[in-house]
Amino acid sequence: MQKRTKIIATLGPASSDQGTIEALIRAGTNVFRLNFSHGSGDDHRQRCEQIRAAALVLGTQVAILGDLQGPKIRIAGFANGPVTLEVGDIFTLDTALGPKDGDQHQVGVTYAALIDDCKPGQLLLLDDGRLELSIDRVESGKVITRVRTGGLLSANKGINLLGGGLSAPALTDKDYSDIRLAAELEVDFLAVSFPRSGDDIRFARKAAEEAGCMARIVAKVERAEAVATDAALDDIIIASDVVMVARGDLGVEIGDAELIGIQKKMILRARQLNRTVITATQMMETMIESPLPTRAEVFDVANAVLDGTDAVMLSAETAAGKHPVKVVEAMTRIILGAEKQPSNRTSGHRMDIQFQRTDEAVAMAAMYTANHLGSVKAILCLTETGNTPLWMSRIRSGIPIYGISRQSPALRAMCLYRGVIPMPVPDQTSNIDATLSAAIETLKGTGALQPGDKVLTTYGNVFGKMGETNTLKIITVD
Ligand code: PGA
Ligand code: MN
Repeated sequence: MQKRTKIIATLGPASSDQGTIEALIRAGTNVFRLNFSHGSGDDHRQRCEQIRAAALVLGTQVAILGDLQGPKIRIAGFANGPVTLEVGDIFTLDTALGPKDGDQHQVGVTYAALIDDCKPGQLLLLDDGRLELSIDRVESGKVITRVRTGGLLSANKGINLLGGGLSAPALTDKDYSDIRLAAELEVDFLAVSFPRSGDDIRFARKAAEEAGCMARIVAKVERAEAVATDAALDDIIIASDVVMVARGDLGVEIGDAELIGIQKKMILRARQLNRTVITATQMMETMIESPLPTRAEVFDVANAVLDGTDAVMLSAETAAGKHPVKVVEAMTRIILGAEKQPSNRTSGHRMDIQFQRTDEAVAMAAMYTANHLGSVKAILCLTETGNTPLWMSRIRSGIPIYGISRQSPALRAMCLYRGVIPMPVPDQTSNIDATLSAAIETLKGTGALQPGDKVLTTYGNVFGKMGETNTLKIITVD
């Protein structure tokens, strides 16, 4: 039984050798994330080569996601190392201080316009919300605060404003140079950090295209503004190809109690709007140290699967943790357990709408038929762009969707779509019947199909033409 929900593993020092990358793929990784916030261009170049070599060795499809750092606002550093802030202390963020001028009473900030966004009474959250500073007053380049929750504070920690509203630009100079790196590396997905609106995503997409990066764009939803209203959320989903429930920063901005509602709403809405969705951050956090997940982590991953997410993401667990392969194995096991639940296989989706396009209608008809006709064991979907399998995979089902394509970008995009297994067309094949027969033979060879099973196939009249799917044919395997 192959899992339907996809796993994204972030690469880092704990997972940057060829052997580990191969083991991560074998354990169930479908997409690797290169985090441009850490590591040099050469680190990422080398990881890309290793990923592609590993995929070739294993004869499988694996996609690459480049993740831009974005305008994260950070404190500068301290003269004598980290400081400990106590509740009630006065602590000043001063835009005039240098990168190492901080002490017990003050520290620099990397973003001068912070001052304009801060008002007395608001709460600043440092280090993913571990420390809370209540703003007392704002004067000539300084924000003077009183410590509400204290703790250890070290250099370069992130700053968020509770409720959102920090107005940094959409892309930084570093982002522009990382976009050029993403173009060079030909990443399949490009993640944009801290977008406020659909406009920020369209702006980033244009910048990517101008740099020659044709990746599908992922919006990391991690600011209060992006989820402030249903219209704001729709705006950002529609502008993107993929959305990420970026629970780390989002939880800091809107409060952790709001996260569960937003996660469910985002997954539902993304599927309704034919977009893919990633659930991210702290899914298996304790496995950074421990060889086993907690029950709460098991339930978190399982609940995201039941919510209908396309993919679950690992960050430090695979980038810097002690058990990078074990954590992917554990995630695969949890996903398979959750996918056994009947609610994952039945669908009431889109029973009440009109379809505008022939290919979309064929995709929906295929899924309705697959879910309601006994003995269908596979859906074989010939595709140039991956769009038909994307529509199909928005419908819940227990039947595997094989996205058969000659196009590498489509094959790698399908690495992210839940329930879709990308399958390249054999080199010599040049017509529809031969492609379908070859695919059926392959699946008989792996035991996925037996004589007597039914297979649903979809394709267009002309082999290799986009957007032309107009046929649904049911074949009995002999
Ligand atoms: P990050 O984004 O890991 O780049 O911070 C994800 C999140 O904020 O959850
Ligand atoms: Mn983030």
